[in-house]
Amino acid sequence: RSRHKVQGKDRVRVTFKDVAGIEEAKDEVGEIIEFLKNPKRFQRLGGRIPRGVLLIGPPGCGKTLLAKAIAGEADVPFFSISGSDFVEMFVGVGASRVRDLFKQAKDNSPCIIFLDEIDAIGRRRGASFVGGGHDEREQTLNAILVEMDGFDTNDQVIVVAATNRADILDSALTRPGRFDRQVVVPLPDLKGRAEILRVHAKKVKIGPNVDLNRMARGTPMFSGADLAAIINEAALAATMSNKDFIEMADLEEARDKVRWGRAK
Ligand code: ATP
Repeated sequence: RSRHKVQGKDRVRVTFKDVAGIEEAKDEVGEIIEFLKNPKRFQRLGGRIPRGVLLIGPPGCGKTLLAKAIAGEADVPFFSISGSDFVEMFVGVGASRVRDLFKQAKDNSPCIIFLDEIDAIGRRRGASFVGGGHDEREQTLNAILVEMDGFDTNDQVIVVAATNRADILDSALTRPGRFDRQVVVPLPDLKGRAEILRVHAKKVKIGPNVDLNRMARGTPMFSGADLAAIINEAALAATMSNKDFIEMADLEEARDKVRWGRAK
């Protein structure tokens, strides 16, 4: 499709079946997907769809994955930028990057803009803040707010932002009309971990003695990224041992390795 040829965005192949164990979060973004697919349906009754969605949760639990899956499910372009990219920029550069990004997005609407690590620029302006709005971070934040306020009803652009520190965000970001929809993307529970392991196990060769439910029970507090790493490490280990498939012992060793890596 021609709208996938634009530069500066990824072609999204991620869909809901790649995102496991966070069913509630998936449910909550359902109407965003429906809006992107069929905006006219929403004009009929006059409801206002949120323009900004804030995904909140610990690292590695699928915020980026979910944002991509929204774009993938709706089959729209995905533009992304990370808050930490702005930190090293010269004054004014961040703001102009933001304007470019929103311009590109509007030209390719309907689409998703993903702002990862929004806390890097959207941190609450504290008492220690001096400089009266002249620092780079604040200019970038202001540019985002101005762009979001400037959307009109024809702009079918949804801005999805991610943070693991919602508590430190500037209240200007969460005001109505901005990121007024908040979706929690938590650490997976036991059932969620089993589902995430199954999603990633589909990409590798798993042996008959492997019990993913048992692996899920043995991985409390592991994130989706940790669980994906276990499957990957186990596949590499089994490969190095010239096995035909991954055995339970490979997964257990991989789990210990990942746990050790996390502890460091
Ligand atoms: P960060 O805050 O560190 O950016 P994040 O919440 O955005 O983390 P992702 O980048 O989405 O996390 O997750 C990293 C990888 O971990 C994904 O690409 C995927 O392989 C795996 N993963 C994480 N969560 C899930 C999940 N819920 N289902 C399936 N895979 C997952």
